[in-house]
Amino acid sequence: MRFQNLARFPDIGSNSYLMEFGDTRVVLDAGTHPKHTGTETLPLFELLEPDSVDAIFVSHPHLDHIGGLPVLMQQQITAAVAMTEPTRESGSALLHNSVNVMKAQKQELNEPAYPLYTHSKVDEMERLWFTRSPGEVFSIGHKERIECEFFRAGHVLGAVGVRMEWRGKSVFYTGDVHFENQTMTQAADFPEGKVDTLIIETTRGEHPRSPEYSREGEKRRLGEAIAETIARNGTVLIPVFAFGKTQELLLMLHELREEEVIPFVPVHIGGLSTKMSQIADRFADIEGRNHRSFEVLKDFEELKILPRGHREPEFHRGHIYALSSGMMSEHTVSNRFARRILASEEHSLFFVGYADELTPGGKLLEAGKGGSVQLDSHHEHETPIHCEVDRFDFSGHSPRDQIADYAVRCDPETVILVHGDTPARAWFLEELQRRLPDSRIIIPEPGESVEL
Ligand SMILES: [Zn+2]
Ligand SMILES: [Zn+2]
Repeated sequence: MRFQNLARFPDIGSNSYLMEFGDTRVVLDAGTHPKHTGTETLPLFELLEPDSVDAIFVSHPHLDHIGGLPVLMQQQITAAVAMTEPTRESGSALLHNSVNVMKAQKQELNEPAYPLYTHSKVDEMERLWFTRSPGEVFSIGHKERIECEFFRAGHVLGAVGVRMEWRGKSVFYTGDVHFENQTMTQAADFPEGKVDTLIIETTRGEHPRSPEYSREGEKRRLGEAIAETIARNGTVLIPVFAFGKTQELLLMLHELREEEVIPFVPVHIGGLSTKMSQIADRFADIEGRNHRSFEVLKDFEELKILPRGHREPEFHRGHIYALSSGMMSEHTVSNRFARRILASEEHSLFFVGYADELTPGGKLLEAGKGGSVQLDSHHEHETPIHCEVDRFDFSGHSPRDQIADYAVRCDPETVILVHGDTPARAWFLEELQRRLPDSRIIIPEPGESVEL
């Protein structure tokens, strides 16, 4: 067996890995990198011979795992492409949205390679995807059969890890994982027992989680902060990722209303969030989901949906706005709406997800109340931040110790560390070398191959 790292950079983004089982070749994920542009966003697909891949697995529909799939499929036309049903539905919507973003960026960034694919290409490719549910054993490969199975990964609805077995050897790829329940998505349900090669994500390797942390406590802290803002007649803006975080947040607000922590005020959503919530609602009864049968668009009371084509919702005092994008990227609803919120100290801006330091959301968090931020690169002026700014930890990734514990339980011969910044992988390397002294722990360089 052989593993090859197809990620172009040694951090998170453009996640893609090749596994070779004899002559049978499987690509795990095909993401794009959010911090680069043009063909630099793609994994090292040029290292693959055209039409040499037997199968492609997509662990979940975040763009750092699926964004490059149409490009890879064009190069690997006979590869079978497998994912879960929620990943297929939301992945298609997110890829179509990414076509729109690339078209806008083509002008703005003067990026001739954009769009990397078109709407019709996405439609064409999508027809070739096949779906499997966790618990279904299936096989891939023409010359030799590799036995495969998906396992729920917790992270977002429909996210999975993949187990592959070949000639008595097993490989498990975690994808992005959370071993604890979130409000909507239940904890990962990974296989226990011996694994020969384990490929793990290392997102949170750099920072330990505080021992006092609990998701329930953090939810209450958010609820109280919202209640205080509304009590002073202020408005709350919560920038959220359209897929995953929006639905998690709405269910959390639903619980906070029921627990009477927050008052019963209208909640606005808009942009891509509406589309992604529609898709999530279709899977309201799926295995691995809490609040079974609760459809956010139908059952969440006083939900205000921004009509299609409207750039910004109407502003109301005392309301809550959960708008995408989560990092307040330029030209998104949350970015435009932020101007109203930043202007007054009665209002609040609360972050509930990751915001990269180079994005408007990340810069705003860094500057904090009393600072100033450039929301839009076309405006030279910085906008002063008068409102309350806070962040809450509802990460969809497992704390590092839980992933390390899982790795130890797998008793692997080899552990491959992926999906993490350099210091994050370094922590896992040290921790696992100590706890698994007989195992090989590897941080693969971009393009590097490892014989297994
Ligand atoms: Zn993810
Ligand atoms: Zn990821």
